[in-house]
Amino acid sequence: MSYYSPSIEKLIESFEKLPSIGNKTAARLAFYILDRPEEEVKEFVDAIMNAKKNLKYCSKCFNISDTDPCEICSNPRRDESVICVVEDVKDVVAMERTHEFNGLYHVLHGSISPMNGVGPDDIKIKELLSRLMDGTVKELILATNPRVEGEATAMYISKLVKPMGIKVTRIAHGIPVGGDLEYTDEVTLSKALEGRREL
Ligand SMILES: [Zn+2]
Repeated sequence: MSYYSPSIEKLIESFEKLPSIGNKTAARLAFYILDRPEEEVKEFVDAIMNAKKNLKYCSKCFNISDTDPCEICSNPRRDESVICVVEDVKDVVAMERTHEFNGLYHVLHGSISPMNGVGPDDIKIKELLSRLMDGTVKELILATNPRVEGEATAMYISKLVKPMGIKVTRIAHGIPVGGDLEYTDEVTLSKALEGRREL
C-alpha cells in the first residue's frame, strides 16, 4: 500500500517511468518539484510540452528537429556527398561534438537484432537506400555501435550499398584515449589492430 496521497503517488509514478530513475529517485524528484515555486514548475512543464509539440523527425535523415528538413540537411555548407549512418539521434549529437564531420547523417533508429525480433525492415534502411539513388552520395560512413547488432547492421548495409559503386567505410574502433593496453579487452584490442593506419 502507498503512504503518499494519490497526487504525489501519481507524480512519483510518472518520474519512475523515465529511464534509469528508480523509486527512491522518483520520490526525491517529486518532492523537489513540489518545493519549487509555481512559475518554475510551469516553465518546466512548458519546456516538455513545447519540445513534444514542435520536434519532429527530419524526413530526409530522420534526425529529430524543430524543422523539416532539419538544420543539418538544410545547411548548404554541409557536404552532401558523404552520409554518416548512425543508430540513434543521440549519436548525431556525439558526432557533431567532434567538429570533425561536415557531411550529412542518416539515423537508422535502431540496429538489426534477430534476437530481439528487429529485422532490416524495422529500421530506416529502405529510406537510406532511396537517398543513395540519385548519385549525389559518394561515401557512406557506417558509424553504428561496435556491438554485435551494430556490426551486423554495418555488414548488411555494406553488402547492399557497395554494388552501387559508393565507397563504404566503417569508423575505426579501439582503445579509448587515456586507456591502457593492459586493461583493454581482447575484442577492443583486435578491433584497434584491424583499424590501424599508416603514420
Ligand atoms: Zn535531416
